[in-house]
Amino acid sequence: MTTRAVLALGSNLGERDDTLAAGVEQLVDHPQVRLSKMSPMVQTKPVGGPEQPDYLNMVIEVETDFEPYALLAHCQGVEQAHHRRRAVRWGPRTLDVDIITYGDLVCDDPQLTLPHPRAAQRAFVLQPWAWMDNSAQVAGRPVASLAAEADDLPGLKLYERDV
Ligand code: ADP
Ligand code: MG
Repeated sequence: MTTRAVLALGSNLGERDDTLAAGVEQLVDHPQVRLSKMSPMVQTKPVGGPEQPDYLNMVIEVETDFEPYALLAHCQGVEQAHHRRRAVRWGPRTLDVDIITYGDLVCDDPQLTLPHPRAAQRAFVLQPWAWMDNSAQVAGRPVASLAAEADDLPGLKLYERDV
């Protein structure tokens, strides 16, 4: 069975834009994952955690045949490929990949909470998601209006990749 899932990527260490681009390629370089939509990259101020560099964030929509936990393992495999360190909670990371939604599935397992518990408050997920898919909804509300209300929206700007 094929399910539509939204994945969020974030990076605030190293060559952040290259890392996000490579992360997307690796996520969809699998027979059970197909890319259907991709947001622009945004630059955002960190939310919580220690003092740390600004993030680049983006979201993608995929069609996947993976079951939810297999998709999570796949996402974590891509994080590992970028030598992600997990030393500090909410601390800096080369690559973070979160599952924001998996179809309409609602799940409160701490290992895999769906929809992602903080997504509906985070402009760094909601704003690129709204730019990618203007009709997207989460928790019964349009992501564009949730983005407009998010506390971290003022720290967000479109990221223009250097050429
Ligand atoms: P962050 O909350 O900053 O993304 P981590 O990436 O270190 O932190 O994730 C911590 C744990 O969150 C992971 O071990 C994973 O099992 C769990 N988790 C729960 N729900 C989700 C989700 N929707 N997507 C990704 N990870 C999740
Ligand atoms: Mg994560």
